[in-house]
Amino acid sequence: MRIECIAIGTELLTTRRLDTNSVWLGERLARLGLGFYRKTAVGDTREDLAELFREALGRSELILATGGLGPTFDDFTKELFAEILGAELVEDAPSRADMVAFYAARNRIPPQVNFKQALIPVGAEPLRNPVGTAPGVWWEDPPGYPGVRIVLLPGVPREMKRMWEEQVEPRLRPLAGNARHTLRMVVAGVPESSLDERTREVRERHGHLDWTILASLTQVELLVRSDDTALLETVLADMKPVLGADLANIGDGNLEDAVLDQLQARGQTLAVAESMTGGLLSARLTAIPGASRSFLGGATVYSPAAKAALLGLPAAFLAEHGTVSEATTIALAEAARTVLGATWGLAVTGNAGPGAEGDAPVGTVFLAVAGPEGRVSIGRLIPGDRSDVQLRSAAAALDFLRRQIDRS
Ligand code: ATP
Repeated sequence: MRIECIAIGTELLTTRRLDTNSVWLGERLARLGLGFYRKTAVGDTREDLAELFREALGRSELILATGGLGPTFDDFTKELFAEILGAELVEDAPSRADMVAFYAARNRIPPQVNFKQALIPVGAEPLRNPVGTAPGVWWEDPPGYPGVRIVLLPGVPREMKRMWEEQVEPRLRPLAGNARHTLRMVVAGVPESSLDERTREVRERHGHLDWTILASLTQVELLVRSDDTALLETVLADMKPVLGADLANIGDGNLEDAVLDQLQARGQTLAVAESMTGGLLSARLTAIPGASRSFLGGATVYSPAAKAALLGLPAAFLAEHGTVSEATTIALAEAARTVLGATWGLAVTGNAGPGAEGDAPVGTVFLAVAGPEGRVSIGRLIPGDRSDVQLRSAAAALDFLRRQIDRS
């Protein structure tokens, strides 16, 4: 089925608002084994919208549009489709009643302009809006376009999502193909180009599948899609020996999920001490629900004073070894572990720039893990600007810990 997405709203063409609706809808369609072949963001200008709607009617079997269903002068998605298709708009009594009830629940009566939202093209079905005032539209076989379906949803993401789940998805399910499944493998500590090379043989062996390599600042994802789950299991079995310890996670999770899973499986706990990452490490871990079962907490010890006051590093020790050094990082990991009574202590120090710090050039990072069997540490030089170095260091620290726990 040829499915086209139209995201309506002038703000979507600026940096003020990103079109997240089409991303969400694309993901939902994929679950049904469907997908967009085209998507467009367009401003609220009558001529531009009319031109796009005419083109879409001529080329697509399902047109999914969001936005422009509101009460104001710049909302005319429904009116324009009705005009192009020569259909009259009539008031839908239940939609009007919904709107009156929505306002009554807030001790108000709807402004007169709002009633235009209850108008629905003749031949179309209204989609009720349980969380807002603008009903949507499901229009099958509109005049002159047999076999075409038009779905109009509000732009407000919360309203759009609820209406999709409750009313659009059930209508589309009978038309859907085989659901496609995605095997997602998260790889850490390996550059994209070398991952491409290392995995080539396995990818070629399963060359008829749909493969993607997605690199971000802190990890590389290897994605493969198929409607055959047994085949995806085979791919995973073939990939595991190739990726070895670099395979950080499988499924939806990232590095932090992998670390928390490892700790939970072993009934172990973690404490952190971070300076140059300024809390990023703790933020990544605490973003995961249930992190408290194994992440005890930590300290952002940015200054020498904080390293001394919170984790007890003597000023003389810091003076001797420097704040960015392997010895200091090891001492911080051990101190975090001891102070919180955790199984593991993880520490990161470094210089994120812009200027050199002592004799540590920009990008210098030290990572240390203190665990039941002792301490390990590494020093690295991480490229990028200040924010890149911080993000990459937090990821490198999680990955370093993951590998130590794996080996223990
Ligand atoms: P309502 O009648 O509830 O105002 P509407 O259908 O008129 O809904 P818009 O006025 O176009 O929708 O947008 C409402 C809000 O939703 C705005 O804050 C807008 O930025 C946001 N929005 C609209 N389209 C999108 C989109 N494609 N992705 C993310 N946000 C969007």
